[in-house]
Amino acid sequence: MSINSEILNKLVTILGKEYVFIDDETRNSYGHDETEDFVFPPSVVLKPANASEISQILVLANEYKIPVVPIGGRTGLSGGALCIYQGIGLSTERLNRIIEIDEKNLQVVVEPAVITQVLKEAVAEKGLFYPVDPSSMGSCFIGGNIAENSGGARAVKYGVTKDYVLNLEVVLPDGNIIWTGANTLKNSTGYNLTQLMVGSEGTLGVITKIVLKLLPKNNYNVLMLVPFYSATEACEAVSAIFRAGIMPSALEFMERDAIDWTLKFVDGISVQVKEGIKAHLLIEVDGNYPDILMQEAEKILTVVEQFEIDEILFADTEDQKNALWKMRRSVAEAVKGNSIYKEEDTVVPRFELPKLLEGIKRIGNKYGFKSVCYGHAGDGNLHVNIIKGDMTDDNWQTQVPLGIREIFELTVALKGTLSGEHGIGLVQKNFMDIAFSKVHLELMESIKRVFDPNNVLNPGKIFPDNL
Ligand SMILES: Cc1cc2nc3c(=O)[nH]c(=O)nc-3n(C[C@H](O)[C@H](O)[C@H](O)COP(=O)(O)OP(=O)(O)OC[C@H]3O[C@@H](n4cnc5c(N)ncnc54)[C@H](O)[C@@H]3O)c2cc1C
Repeated sequence: MSINSEILNKLVTILGKEYVFIDDETRNSYGHDETEDFVFPPSVVLKPANASEISQILVLANEYKIPVVPIGGRTGLSGGALCIYQGIGLSTERLNRIIEIDEKNLQVVVEPAVITQVLKEAVAEKGLFYPVDPSSMGSCFIGGNIAENSGGARAVKYGVTKDYVLNLEVVLPDGNIIWTGANTLKNSTGYNLTQLMVGSEGTLGVITKIVLKLLPKNNYNVLMLVPFYSATEACEAVSAIFRAGIMPSALEFMERDAIDWTLKFVDGISVQVKEGIKAHLLIEVDGNYPDILMQEAEKILTVVEQFEIDEILFADTEDQKNALWKMRRSVAEAVKGNSIYKEEDTVVPRFELPKLLEGIKRIGNKYGFKSVCYGHAGDGNLHVNIIKGDMTDDNWQTQVPLGIREIFELTVALKGTLSGEHGIGLVQKNFMDIAFSKVHLELMESIKRVFDPNNVLNPGKIFPDNL
């Protein structure tokens, strides 16, 4: 159903005409996220102010069978926010208040369009800690983080978004508004709809208020950059660090190309990468007792020194720490700036990381593509950037999907899965048969039908085309 003037008039009545956009510039701008170079402009962009307006939009969408795609900060890497069937692009950006920081209960109540870093800084001012830190935290929204169950560098010690979500206000696809749970740290009361919403990629409801758990802030950390002469050994060192009894607060892997490209892309980082170095681990430990942190750092040294490494860079000052984190967080953009690419978000049990990395390189050789790998190695989460470089368009279209399928088959054979934190969205959906049986996929799809019988909310995502 296209959006005719009758529907537009009804939308204007709900929102006011200043929040209904049909001009090309706005539609194009809301027609993309950060997934490859895709652009799918919606027919209309809406900017509602609250749950009640979103509810009225969804009632109308059901009446006229119009697709509605919730849109957050548009930093997604799996195409979840793309309006592939046009329809309504529902930007949540006006729901951007931090409603309450509850210092008595260590909780915060927020609206979905609060930028993750803004939230982190606001609670930090009160001595509190929201640990989830996707590299995109300067521009992604907390609502998008919940919809994708986002992670980040600190997930290895502190967990991912799901571990902090206590309760959600959600506008269901039929327009009903519910709270999914309670503002409690534990809850055994009925099915856990809160966690069903987490990671549902905007297909089961529009999240309009969020209650998050917070932690007390840690005061100290030690950060080191360890260069390895073998990328496989860097991966082997990852599980060795945990087996030595250390729980790092971040343990990130970067292949040589990832660092080289980033150093060219970002100014102000003075890291020298010597000839022969193939990968780095960026390792952080944190806590409240500097002596214990130094002991842990020394223990990490004894582990990594069992491998062939070069001189370790310890970040002595806050500036140095910020520079190393800036380098790590800029890898994705640097790779994107270098070539057309496809990014996969493989995750395996961490001991299997060396096998995953070697397998990716073997598969790349077989299908003729180069890959640059980096990611949250402590979680076994490896981002695989497949680089187009000088590959022909034909090989890019035909060979790369075969290679990606083999990479996912390897990932699942290693007891891992397709996505650790970026979600399935549009670009991974036709690989879901590798991770799930038909029975499993049909069960998930029947949950979708219960919530959204008319399939108006973010259709065409998560489920394979041929299910
Ligand atoms: C440079 C870069 C680095 C990144 N690093 C990380 C990282 O370290 N870890 C990580 O996990 N991810 C990372 N990402 C991916 C991305 O930032 C996350 O997936 C993020 O959570 C998306 O949030 P967003 O607000 O941009 O959502 P969008 O891209 O706008 O939307 C993502 C999905 O959420 C849905 N959605 C958005 N808001 C709502 C809502 N209120 N209710 C219901 N559904 C909603 C959309 O429909 C869509 O399906 C990175 C991305 C980039 C570009």
